[in-house]
Amino acid sequence: MTIYRARAFDTPDDPFAGGELRSGDDVGLVVVDGVIVARGEFADVYPDYAEHAVVDLRDGVLIPGLVDTHVHFPQVRAIGALGMPLLEWLDKCALPEECRLASPDYARAVAAEFCNGLVSAGTTTALVFGSHFASAVDALFTEAARLGLRVTSGLVVSDRSLPDDLLTTPQRAYDDAIDLAGRWHGVGRNRYAVTPRFSLSASEPILDACSAVLEATPGAMFTSHVNENRAEVEVVAGLFPDCTDYVDTYDRHGLLKAGAVLAHNVHPTDPELAVLADRGTAVAHCPSSNSALGSGLFPLRRHLGAGVPVALGSDVGAGTGFSVFKEGLQAYFMQRLLDTDGHPLTPTQLLYLATRAGALALGLGDQVGDLSVGKQFDALCLRPPGGTALNVGLRHTTHAEEALGKIFALAGDADVADVWIGGWQLVSGGFVRPALN
Ligand SMILES: [Zn+2]
Repeated sequence: MTIYRARAFDTPDDPFAGGELRSGDDVGLVVVDGVIVARGEFADVYPDYAEHAVVDLRDGVLIPGLVDTHVHFPQVRAIGALGMPLLEWLDKCALPEECRLASPDYARAVAAEFCNGLVSAGTTTALVFGSHFASAVDALFTEAARLGLRVTSGLVVSDRSLPDDLLTTPQRAYDDAIDLAGRWHGVGRNRYAVTPRFSLSASEPILDACSAVLEATPGAMFTSHVNENRAEVEVVAGLFPDCTDYVDTYDRHGLLKAGAVLAHNVHPTDPELAVLADRGTAVAHCPSSNSALGSGLFPLRRHLGAGVPVALGSDVGAGTGFSVFKEGLQAYFMQRLLDTDGHPLTPTQLLYLATRAGALALGLGDQVGDLSVGKQFDALCLRPPGGTALNVGLRHTTHAEEALGKIFALAGDADVADVWIGGWQLVSGGFVRPALN
């Protein structure tokens, strides 16, 4: 049993529906076997547990572990290739790098870099776009398990429009996915996600195979891309003349059950939003990627108005890094720049999008995403180095919402001092160490 004493912020209640930031300058959190069993003012909580160890974190700010709902494992080394739209960036940058993961040694090295990138940024839970190679997906799940990360991922499948090395067949896609899911789904904190790359590179038969894997794997998720870029949307419309729209290419195969997350959706139609809302499909909003590739400005207001759940994704490596704080800030910027479709975002809403909204999108809302009693102790402590603007800012504000605004404006990997997943401290003083379990 450990008692954490901290200045803590979290968002158990949806701030888009009237919920307020929960904050306290001296919160006591009692953690037993990785689960928060008591919470309150430290002075109220402590007497009941006075004989137990207290970890005093009041020199920083404690928030829930961040949730990244869209991030590509094979693209760590592709981050920062600026200046291209989506389809050109895929051809010249992302796909050649993804081909290299055919080598198990290469994939293992990238898996280590990738998982390290997540935890160093304070991300404790992620829906990860895997690799086209089963051996590489194995490497990812192995490394995620070694660190104790909460990872949902799977084999990326395509059978057209990509380099030959990245293509498979519907039958092989099914067999490989069933094999991987059998070995990793529900093992430790790993879960399986059925993952066609996007309809542009997926035929009807391979989407059917995806549907069969979902059917055969209870609790598995579905993830893919949708409506990212206007040129892509046009190509998909040409490939699926019988479908009413891009969302329909997935929906008619039964892939959009609850537990689906589609990335981007920058250019949706109203009927598409209605279908997503009806199916309970969440959208991973990836603003730094959308800006870097010039994909467009995300219509958040229309999503919220239609009742489509939205969370944040870094979309590494089109996105410009692992930090979900940065995605929050970029989301804020983007909504400021939109006229009618913009939704002004408050710091509390940014924290919600970066934590609880992501947990809900991944079907983990009862386990992580906030620091309530009964939740796993997935958390990070921000302790910005002395003299930095964030350090100065946090020392000179007592108002919680204001402090949170400074965090989203200024926080980066260097400020993430400590990270816990299920009570295990994975990052201490900025250094990553593997889990014991
Ligand atoms: Zn992506």
